Amino acid sequence: MLIRRISMRYRIRLPYEIRQLFCKRCKRLIIPGLTSRVRIGRSSIRAIRITCLHCNHVYRKIIAREHK
Ligand SMILES: [Zn+2]
Repeated sequence: MLIRRISMRYRIRLPYEIRQLFCKRCKRLIIPGLTSRVRIGRSSIRAIRITCLHCNHVYRKIIAREHK
């Protein structure tokens, strides 16, 4: 994968936003609306659920931060 190769070559850590684009299970690139499904949770905790359409792995990401 091109991005990974570049990051390994230059020994830099990928920005968080870019790392989010890879499935944690199958390590493939997931693009919202194309190879992944993103849903916003309806509970009091603000979170999004990302479903990888390659391996159907679902993981949640909490997007809200509490201020106290
Ligand atoms: Zn996957």
